[in-house]
Amino acid sequence: MAIVTGFFIPTADAPETDGPPGACQLGDALRKLGTRVTLVTDPSCLARLRAFGFESVTAGHLKEISPLPSHLVSIERLGRARDGHYYNMRGIDLSDRTAPLDGLFLEAANSRLPTIGIGDGGNEIGMGNVLAIVRETIPKGNLIGSVVPVDHLIVAGVSNWGAWGLIAGLSLVSGHNLLPSVSEARVQLDRLVAAGVVDGVTGRADPSIDGLAWDAHADVLERLNDILARYLGAGDAP
Ligand code: ZN
Ligand code: ZN
Repeated sequence: MAIVTGFFIPTADAPETDGPPGACQLGDALRKLGTRVTLVTDPSCLARLRAFGFESVTAGHLKEISPLPSHLVSIERLGRARDGHYYNMRGIDLSDRTAPLDGLFLEAANSRLPTIGIGDGGNEIGMGNVLAIVRETIPKGNLIGSVVPVDHLIVAGVSNWGAWGLIAGLSLVSGHNLLPSVSEARVQLDRLVAAGVVDGVTGRADPSIDGLAWDAHADVLERLNDILARYLGAGDAP
């Protein structure tokens, strides 16, 4: 299993706080289930993420990941638009600082490797599944909308939340709560921020994500943990 993330913010010379936390937490959950996980980002994001176990891929070919993954998951990672460029939500072209990691997903489709994409804006890997809706409903959707499809698309208000939803699903299937606690997730966010990862909206190295203060994220995670406790029993751990 390979998990791909890292949305580079040029003004901060750093990746944003949406994506890496969810990738690390999904990686932790899968490892608890005995799955081998490779965390993947690109050279622009690597300096801030290397300490968290990420490795970088430059050309977007599956042979760059060893061993060859069984599945590919993308969390908040740009997918190419119709013109082949990579755009942020404001329509700024980030192609010169964004390695073509979406190529992994295009190649996976040919290799019949299962793919999952998690996004929140319309410009991420996977949004090719709903491109017509992105073009119709998202500002600048015609320009920024990603054409890269996945087998399974998860759309969430914040991409990290989509990762938590996927972990919650894994928890129900496995019978163990694999989600981080709110305090564990906060500690991890603080570590990423200390490494220079920034809020993509404000551009600042603060413990906020997509311009939303931590409390909003903590609330979502707490609710998911409550739901799992109800289904799995409180205090359950693998
Ligand atoms: Zn996004
Ligand atoms: Zn986001």
